[in-house]
Amino acid sequence: MIFRNPAGAPELACDECGCRWFDRMTNTCYECGTPVKAEAQAEFLQELEAFGAIGRRSDRNADPKGS
Ligand SMILES: [Zn+2]
Repeated sequence: MIFRNPAGAPELACDECGCRWFDRMTNTCYECGTPVKAEAQAEFLQELEAFGAIGRRSDRNADPKGS
């Protein structure tokens, strides 16, 4: 499942226990060991991208040079 933190950024959380701590080496939950589903990772990346796009847009307004 995907949460949003108070800043609006997406946070990936375990489907089974809601824990947000993952072992990034194996993509499993630290609490219960449930593997992170590929679709959840893909969804999370899309959310991150969408959030990043919003951030980049406001950055471009602040800095015309952008990147
Ligand atoms: Zn878990």
